[in-house]
Amino acid sequence: MKRGEHMGVRIEYQASQIEMPLFRQKYQDRENFMNYCRECPHYGRLWSCPPLSFDADAFLAPYTWANLLCAKIHPDKETIRAANTAEKIKAAGWDIVSKAKARIERKLRAIETRMSGSVSLSSGGCSLCETCTRKENLPCCKPDVIRYSMDAFGFDLTAITKELFHIEILWCKDSLPEYFTLIHALLSKESVSESLWKEAGLSTDIATR
Ligand code: SF4
Repeated sequence: MKRGEHMGVRIEYQASQIEMPLFRQKYQDRENFMNYCRECPHYGRLWSCPPLSFDADAFLAPYTWANLLCAKIHPDKETIRAANTAEKIKAAGWDIVSKAKARIERKLRAIETRMSGSVSLSSGGCSLCETCTRKENLPCCKPDVIRYSMDAFGFDLTAITKELFHIEILWCKDSLPEYFTLIHALLSKESVSESLWKEAGLSTDIATR
């Protein structure tokens, strides 16, 4: 496990790699998860989110490996103490998670450049623009940068977190949780080596399934 630091939080990364057919068989259930997605305010309003504007099966078909990255994000004691109202908890939670997510996306895009024919998937909806162009039915304005949400393909993030990383997902209640969890993925034709994760500052422990 590798630790990354930035202001107010400590991030632990773990990686796990699993062949795509098994990954899809075990963790993809589009029909079930689309029902949850339809309840989300992002549904149909972000290009990263369902309904996807392309054939999801054709998108996933070229990839042999799902390289999963789990980030466990621990707010420090001062950050937890300072978030002492419902509004502050919500704002701090959003700030912590969105910054960690942007940081992970950047690192995974850097790995993509080193692995021909790979693409990363993100955790939750795209937040690169203040207002997504989808709301006006215009094409994505950053097609080279956007990375689609794992959820948009119907992947079961709770099961992935529990079964591949043995981590219980915690939520904000009357305080910030001890940690937040994000799951991202790099889809590739070869598995990501331990040294590549390490060079990207992301992980040293890899479990292969
Ligand atoms: S990059 Fe901008 S336009 Fe594209 S999905 Fe993200 S928010 Fe929407």
